[in-house]
Amino acid sequence: MVDALLAGHGRFKAEYVAAERAFLDRLATAGQHPSALFIGCSDSRVIPELLTDAAPGELFVVRNVANRVPVRDDPDTSVGAAIEFAVEHLHVRDVIVCGHDQCGGVEAAFDGLAGIRPGSELAGWLAALLPAVERALAIETSRTLQLRRAVEENVLEGIAGLVTFEAIGTAVASGQVRLHGWVYGLADAALRAYDATRDRFVPIEEVRPDAGAGTQNRAES
Ligand SMILES: [Zn+2]
Repeated sequence: MVDALLAGHGRFKAEYVAAERAFLDRLATAGQHPSALFIGCSDSRVIPELLTDAAPGELFVVRNVANRVPVRDDPDTSVGAAIEFAVEHLHVRDVIVCGHDQCGGVEAAFDGLAGIRPGSELAGWLAALLPAVERALAIETSRTLQLRRAVEENVLEGIAGLVTFEAIGTAVASGQVRLHGWVYGLADAALRAYDATRDRFVPIEEVRPDAGAGTQNRAES
């Protein structure tokens, strides 16, 4: 497998680097100035830069299993550190929490962590998804809709987690930062976004680009 990756790196150098040498030189000398912090799942099928057509330097990315945002004071500080760095030092304008359908982490939580070794790091990490799963179970009736809803509720849980951080709270209040909840559908390769005015996820084309701040409404309520 690593052979394929090395071959890919060869193509990257021969094609992308050759074509974008001046751009890459600017990136190397000017530092990074990403416009957004993207918090997504580690799932190998959900590539932030691919689905947003973002160039190197545009997205500051955090990926973990099931795109979790541990709240402030959680023992896991890696996401919080990235949030602070992105907001306070890189001055990103948008913070996106992006889940996806058919998320293995959400499905494992949905199935009561069956198949996950009890007491493991993974079990502890995924246990935090259970409140989102419980809300989905209470709202929807079929497994398909419950899983879809659990993914969405987990994104909203992430937004709620974001605003527990001082850096985010201050930046959102001052209008420096807008929050966005997205879900990527693997079947249709399309994003849907949380629309606070309708309190549901809709095709992202239906959400005004400047409507992101609305995502905080539910998180704060
Ligand atoms: Zn996932």
